[in-house]
Amino acid sequence: MPSAGQQAKRRQRQIVTEIAKLGLCLPGSLVTRTTRCGTPTCRCHSDPGQLHGPYPTWIRKVGAKSVTRTLNPAQLERYRPLFDNTKRLRQLVTELEELSAQVVDEAEGWERG
Ligand SMILES: [Zn+2]
Repeated sequence: MPSAGQQAKRRQRQIVTEIAKLGLCLPGSLVTRTTRCGTPTCRCHSDPGQLHGPYPTWIRKVGAKSVTRTLNPAQLERYRPLFDNTKRLRQLVTELEELSAQVVDEAEGWERG
């Protein structure tokens, strides 16, 4: 039977291998948005119920600014997996952190809080 240390090492390798295979990971979030267009006479400016959309939209922070990209259906299909990759990356990083804390706690004989 493998020791806790060996098990932790094996899981660590699995996590790193899965991260290496992930591919591109898009930052920010994929949301659905309604918008106003640039034509002042358009009904979207006079009636809040007549906004354009909803459109799938990618929003991310760049420094203090928020960057918004409206996606067409083909782009949505193309890039949705890249948001799923980011979600998986976060899960894997969190698991690696927890595993690391566990290994260090055990190595030092520190009680788990
Ligand atoms: Zn409009």
